[in-house]
Parts: sequence; C-alpha cells; structure tokens
Amino acid sequence: MADCIFCRIVAGEIPSEKVYQDDLVVAFRDIHPVAPVHILIVPRKHVRRLTEVTEADRDWLVRIQEVAAELARREGVAETGFRVVANFGPDGGQEVEHAHYHLVGGRPLGGIG
Ligand code: 5GP
Ligand code: ZN
Repeated sequence: MADCIFCRIVAGEIPSEKVYQDDLVVAFRDIHPVAPVHILIVPRKHVRRLTEVTEADRDWLVRIQEVAAELARREGVAETGFRVVANFGPDGGQEVEHAHYHLVGGRPLGGIG
C-alpha cells in the first residue's frame, strides 16, 4: 500500500528506529512515546484492521505475541510489567489503518484507558 505510513516504514521508505524484524513482523519505536518503552509491532502484510484478519493471518498474529514478550524482556520491563494494546476504529483511537500493537511500559500505566 503506497500511501500507508506503516507499509512505508516496513519497506524502509520512511525512517524509523527499528528494534526487531523477521519474515512476518517489524517492530519500531513510536514517534510520540507515551512511556519510556513504546514500541509498535506491525505485520509486514497490509491488513487494515484487526477485524479483517482471516486464517491466513494466524502466523503473524501469533508472532506478534511472541515478539512482544521478547521485546519486553530486552527492554527490561518483563518483570516490572507492560501493556500490549491494539486500538481499533474511531472510538478505539486508531489513527493508522495498518493493524498494529503497542508495547508500552517503563512506568505505572494505571487502569485501562
Ligand atoms: P494508533 O492510534 O493508530 O493505534 O497508533 C498509531 C501510532 O503510530 C501513534 O502512537 C503514533 O505516534 C505512531 N506513528 C504515527 N506515525 C508514525 C511514524 O511515522 N513513525 C513512527 N515511528 N510512529 C508513528
Ligand atoms: Zn500498510
């Protein structure tokens, strides 16, 4: 998707601080971090919203959970705790229409929301 910010980051056309990449997913630091650790984990494949995933998306969906756990360890928040969040749609505050998960930690995050 030529006009998708995250597709362009995945392709290296827009600079980002990548912290992990493999055949299925790419992780990079959020440009406007809300906590000391704020990483976005995205599938290489352009999927607009999480409600549009199919069986064909299972591999990257599982990989994102594995990568979130690995990055939490690497970033030093595995023991102190962290949050993995997927915003969805207008009410969920989704700005970028390429499915993604936020890994947030490094400070107390309080209740949901
Ligand atoms: P959403 O609100 O869609 O769940 O989250 C989108 C996130 O992408 C936001 O936290 C925003 O700061 C981040 N973001 C938007 N554009 C860029 C960019 O060009 N580079 C990086 N690294 N993050 C971005
Ligand atoms: Zn995309």
